[in-house]
Amino acid sequence: MNFGKMGLVVFVLGLAIAAGAGMNRMSLDRRATNASVAATLADNAWRRINHRADGEDLREARDKMIPWIIGGGIAAVLGLGMIFAAGGSFLPTRTCPKCAETVRAAAVVCKHCGTDLQPVAPNQSKSSYRALAKAAEDAERKVKRS
Ligand SMILES: [Zn+2]
Repeated sequence: MNFGKMGLVVFVLGLAIAAGAGMNRMSLDRRATNASVAATLADNAWRRINHRADGEDLREARDKMIPWIIGGGIAAVLGLGMIFAAGGSFLPTRTCPKCAETVRAAAVVCKHCGTDLQPVAPNQSKSSYRALAKAAEDAERKVKRS
C-alpha cells in the first residue's frame, strides 16, 4: 500500500468517525432537551427528579462524543495531508535507485534526477497495483545484480 492510498483510508475512517460521533451527539442533545422539557412539565416531584437525572446522563453522554469528533476530524485532515504528501497519486510507485525519490512504477526516467529507470514490461503496466509495484522492484533488482 503506498502513502497516498494509506492517506485515503485514514481520511475516510476519520471522516466516518467524526460524522458518526457528530450525529450521535446531535441525537443525544435533542433527547437531553426533551428530558429537560419533560422535567419542567412533570406533574409531580418524583417524575421531575427522574427526568432531570435522565437529562444529566444524556448530557454527559453527549459531551463524551466531543473527543471522537475532534479525533476523527484530526485523522481526516492528517489523511488529506498524506494524500497530498504522496503527490495526490494512488498509482503504484517505486524508489529511484539514484536519488531515492519516489516516482511512478511505470516511469522510465526519474522526474527528480533524470536517471533512466528500468522499464516494466508493457503488459504489466496495465495490471494491478501490486503486480506493477512488484514488477518495478524486480526490474531494479535485476539491474543491481548484473
Ligand atoms: Zn532520481
